[in-house]
Amino acid sequence: MNILVIGSGFSGIVAAHQLSNAGHSCTIVDRRPHLAGNAHDSYDKAGVLIHNYGPHYFRTNSQRILDYLSKFTAWNPVDYTIKSFTEGKFWPFPINLNTFEVLIGKPATTGDFEQYLAANRLDIPNPKNSEEVILSQVGSRLYELFFEGYTLKQWKRHPRDLDPSVCGRIPIRTNRDDRYLSETFQALPKEGYTRLLENILADSPNTTLRLNTDFTEARARVPHDHLVYTGAIDEYFGRCFGPLPYRSLRFEHESFSREQLVGRETISGKPGFWQPAMQVNYPSADTPYTRIVEIKHATGQKIDATTIVREYPSDWTSSEEPYYPVPAADATAAYQKYAALAAGEKNTTFIGRLATYRYYNMDQVTGMALAASQKLIRIFS
Ligand code: FAD
Ligand code: UDP
Repeated sequence: MNILVIGSGFSGIVAAHQLSNAGHSCTIVDRRPHLAGNAHDSYDKAGVLIHNYGPHYFRTNSQRILDYLSKFTAWNPVDYTIKSFTEGKFWPFPINLNTFEVLIGKPATTGDFEQYLAANRLDIPNPKNSEEVILSQVGSRLYELFFEGYTLKQWKRHPRDLDPSVCGRIPIRTNRDDRYLSETFQALPKEGYTRLLENILADSPNTTLRLNTDFTEARARVPHDHLVYTGAIDEYFGRCFGPLPYRSLRFEHESFSREQLVGRETISGKPGFWQPAMQVNYPSADTPYTRIVEIKHATGQKIDATTIVREYPSDWTSSEEPYYPVPAADATAAYQKYAALAAGEKNTTFIGRLATYRYYNMDQVTGMALAASQKLIRIFS
């Protein structure tokens, strides 16, 4: 079979890898000038390895997905730790016992924090939205401090208008575990995501990658028996039911040389860095960006310079990248109309974050691409 794959992110590359190794011939196209989609990383002018489209922290609970990806990369284990900056100071985040001590201004025990939570959390047995999910765990003071403003900036929606899973994915702990994530495996690919996906591509026989090529052009010019589509589902159908809602981002990069970092240790805590953690969140409405990422903290790159990236959320227009599908009931209902069309589309498979309109992580889209391609291999045989 000749398969045309639209998109060279995790979904497209993994699907092509499986299909080509089962004897099918694959052409992958991507309209961007590089592979790896939003997970793309590269060295900037200052020589710093950066995540071009926002920080990508690989994590998974799936041994199967880890085993698959580990054939193509070694890993650099990282305990992803971040801070939140509000009310003029850096706070340990996600909320844990250290955060509570900053809140009350004195040392405390897990018991003290549990007592505070029992007295402050709202009694909401089945939280129906992102506001309720946080209020039901920590009460209004911590919710307002860390979640309400950040979420409003990020999504331009109130947390009560977003699925519980949005804020619910942030852990809340009463011990001193201050890691941002909870998955059992947390690490970065040793040589980056771009190299990881290049390695998967190199192990894909009869597969060609064409960059700077749009779907419409490829569809007309590349003969194919089956299409694997990983772009935005509403775009595929010409936005016939109107555009789906997305949030976009603007990234502002700033690099600092060794000389420019002199004296900055008073804030960053160590030489060669600009801020005290790989990510600092800014939940306050006074700051237009949501977070500043200094990925060198996580990559462990040995280099004097550093680069920080400020993230400004923005409305999506058709000239921007649709970074985030919106996890909310109205958006899901709008998506369902497109999903119904997709179900009737012959010889076409829709996978990935944009084609299924889900707020998925890299491990989840990898799992989806593996499952979908195995199904296709069975159908084609
Ligand atoms: P994408 O990476 O979006 O790839 C789709 C590709 O298709 C793109 O390269 C695009 O150019 C191409 N394409 C689309 N339409 C067309 C067309 N018409 N013609 C040609 N090409 C087309 N995940 C994590 O696991 N951990 C994280 O910490 C994390 N952080 C994130 C931070 C940000 C800011 C964002 C936006 C996402 C983050 N993610 C994270 C999610 C992660 O990016 C996705 O799970 C993953 O990249 C999805 O892969 P994909 O192949 O489905 O889609
Ligand atoms: N969030 C928040 N305050 C924070 C961090 C996160 O309110 O300091 C909320 C916000 O709605 C965000 C969601 O939790 O969109 C998920 O956060 P995460 O850091 O996982 O977002 P992503 O990396 O996917 O942008």
